[in-house]
Amino acid sequence: MSALIGIDQGTTGTRVVAFGHGDRVLADEYREVPTAHPHPGWVEKDADQVVVSVAEGLAAVVGQLDGARVDAVGLDNEGETVVAWDAETLRPLAPAVVWSCRRSQGVVDRLRAAGAEPRVRALAGTPLDPYFSSTKIRWLLENDEAVAGAAEAGRVRFGTFDAYVCARLGEGARTDPSTAARTQLQRIDRPGEWDEELCAIFGVDPAWLPPIGPSVGELGRLAGLPLGTLLVDQTAALAGHGCLAPGAAKATYGTGVFVLANAGASPPADPAGLLPTVAWQEQSVAYALDGGVFTAGSAMSWLHELGLVADPAESEALAGSVADTGGVRFLPALTGVAAPWWMPEARGVWAGMTAHTTRAHMVRAVLEAIAWRVRDIVDAMGTAGVAPALLRVDGGMTGNRWLMQRQADVLGIPVRVAAQAEATALGAARAAAAGVGRAAFADLAELAETGETIEPSAGSAAWRYAGHADWRRWLEAAGTLPA
Ligand code: ADP
Repeated sequence: MSALIGIDQGTTGTRVVAFGHGDRVLADEYREVPTAHPHPGWVEKDADQVVVSVAEGLAAVVGQLDGARVDAVGLDNEGETVVAWDAETLRPLAPAVVWSCRRSQGVVDRLRAAGAEPRVRALAGTPLDPYFSSTKIRWLLENDEAVAGAAEAGRVRFGTFDAYVCARLGEGARTDPSTAARTQLQRIDRPGEWDEELCAIFGVDPAWLPPIGPSVGELGRLAGLPLGTLLVDQTAALAGHGCLAPGAAKATYGTGVFVLANAGASPPADPAGLLPTVAWQEQSVAYALDGGVFTAGSAMSWLHELGLVADPAESEALAGSVADTGGVRFLPALTGVAAPWWMPEARGVWAGMTAHTTRAHMVRAVLEAIAWRVRDIVDAMGTAGVAPALLRVDGGMTGNRWLMQRQADVLGIPVRVAAQAEATALGAARAAAAGVGRAAFADLAELAETGETIEPSAGSAAWRYAGHADWRRWLEAAGTLPA
């Protein structure tokens, strides 16, 4: 018997899953890694703990395989998050700066004032924003003494978690074009190399960065096992859903909803407010368009904290218990509105309440708003020329059947719920098999055929057209309200 292992190094923890024949789960381990918020807007974590979570999770999974051979291991990582380490000792020099951390806003403001943004957009394809690794590295160099000292001494190294985990548990730091795209230091049209001009804009010496290899291939060993893929988590999920053809799209419904569409062999000419990125590089490069709804499952947890639902799952029964929202509307902007409108200052809004409004109306309005936000992104994908005909979905919120039906109704296309809940780890594992020559990368497309398909309900078309126009008017009005 043989197994494939997918390691999904995510924001809140690391999941390691071993898959056997027919993608049967043979072992599954999760190690939580705490994040810290030392100041408002700051998010960081201990890079050592992430390495330990990967090493322990992997050892525990291998221990459950009864000696089955491990054909390949694939590692996906959270992307954007920056680790600074000492080249000689490999020790972290500072806490890792997590993707959602806003501490480098000052660096962004300064570069924007200096007129750097158009050039960054032209080269990297992405706007200036604290989200990407670029300004986080600059911030560490300017504000952390240990990092600055190591840079002075020629010993500093920077990388995302794929690079750091490979440095600690593998044969040396390395990354791939999909994660490198999230640093903003790689040109969108030249994946596989650090760009000197982008590095100069952010004051980063390319010698501090790991080599960029292919996403899929014989990538050496990780903890003694053959490493067959390195990917960023969102594109590992895209692979895990079998989205190999242009226009194939997936949405992961967790804390936020992360929608990604395969955009084909060249970067989209007009990304229509979405982020162009590299999906993977195997024999050739595939691009993707990325759009995020930052407030989704987090709004469910918030409703729970407010006492409006007993738990997030209760939202399903509540939403279905009323015929409509009773005129209530919600703008899910608890952390701004992201793609494709980019209104970071927008805040959540409830509106349209009367003395007859119940919590069921309010909860239903939140779920409906999430579905409309996903439609905003899918529409932008259409504008960019990669309109999906089907949306493949995974994540904790897909357990909410009411929301999934509403999503299909709002989009007017079917929604297919992944048969394998761990779509991201599966993508990493299946891509790794291709990397070590045990399968063809194209075989991942088979995965697209599995899962339950939810069709838009009969008669939802008229509602959808009117609802969409209303939603856009409301979003524009509410999103631009002063905070
Ligand atoms: P993440 O990977 O981002 O931590 P998960 O995929 O584990 O997220 O999903 C958890 C999120 O989904 C939580 O924010 C939770 O509030 C929400 N959630 C879980 N089940 C449901 C449900 N049945 N209905 C609505 N929201 C849900």
